[in-house]
Amino acid sequence: MPFDDLLAGIAADMRTVTDRGRVADYIPSLGSVDPARFGIALCTADGACHVAGDADLPFSIQSISKVFALTLALGKVGDALWSRVGREPSGSAFNSIVQLEREEGIPRNPFINAGALVCTDVHLAGHSPREAIGEILRFVRGLADDDDIVVDETVARSEQEQGFRNAALANYIRSFGNLQQPVDAVLGTYFHQCAIAMSCRQLALAGRYLMLGGRSPGAGRIVTPQRARRINAIMLTCGHYDASGDFAFRVGLPGKSGVGGGILAVAPGRGSIAVWSPGLNAQGNSQLGTLALERVSAALGWSIFDPV
Ligand code: GLN
Repeated sequence: MPFDDLLAGIAADMRTVTDRGRVADYIPSLGSVDPARFGIALCTADGACHVAGDADLPFSIQSISKVFALTLALGKVGDALWSRVGREPSGSAFNSIVQLEREEGIPRNPFINAGALVCTDVHLAGHSPREAIGEILRFVRGLADDDDIVVDETVARSEQEQGFRNAALANYIRSFGNLQQPVDAVLGTYFHQCAIAMSCRQLALAGRYLMLGGRSPGAGRIVTPQRARRINAIMLTCGHYDASGDFAFRVGLPGKSGVGGGILAVAPGRGSIAVWSPGLNAQGNSQLGTLALERVSAALGWSIFDPV
């Protein structure tokens, strides 16, 4: 089936679903997003990009930014990162603190908040928060080949005002010596990276390096093929927190979700797919986004567990 027809059909079907999950409301600027929004974009390895629904409307990428932060942190310190953050699924909520005590301040993986804070700390070394945020923004703009991508300052400010749990996580990790930069600077940078606003089209374009063995069509080589493979592996096993197993079961693709309702999924060698629907399931992952990706991967036979 042609990609455009597939995506249009899915977008039309998603409009009729009534149980859309719950929009994140821990800050007003996320809580006020229209739950009826749905967008999807799919970029293929041959350079085409197909879209349907609200694919050009920017939304808060939130934890999807953890993929870009991990890529930058690995670029900075290489595999030494793995002495400060693990690569095992946590089986716990994205903002959980419990495993940190037993595991002496080493977060389970880079995609839970604790692990993302360590990546941000690595990325921040030698920079002011402003420079570090500028670097992340330049990085995603280069990947998406789009200089219009910005940080939503209202979201960033509210994250900061409501960020008690993240502050607790950062201070707790700091107490084990696993944050090296000032806690406020790490938090400020983290909140801004979460507040980057991107559309499905921009996100799917940005994710192409992960489908293409580490090379971005616009920005050139971003990571080695081995590193791209490993980032995909962590997305598959840890990208949806305590629903990562369920996402692998249903969709079968490396994916990273954000509490803004977006998901970036990667079909290695085939496609980079971004979906957005603001309603979340109990684990904080987009309810319709997951359903839509399940449809895409089944229709195209793109699950990494499908025979080639
Ligand atoms: N900004 C959110 C937080 O740190 C991101 C969480 C998410 O998207 N799951 O709590």
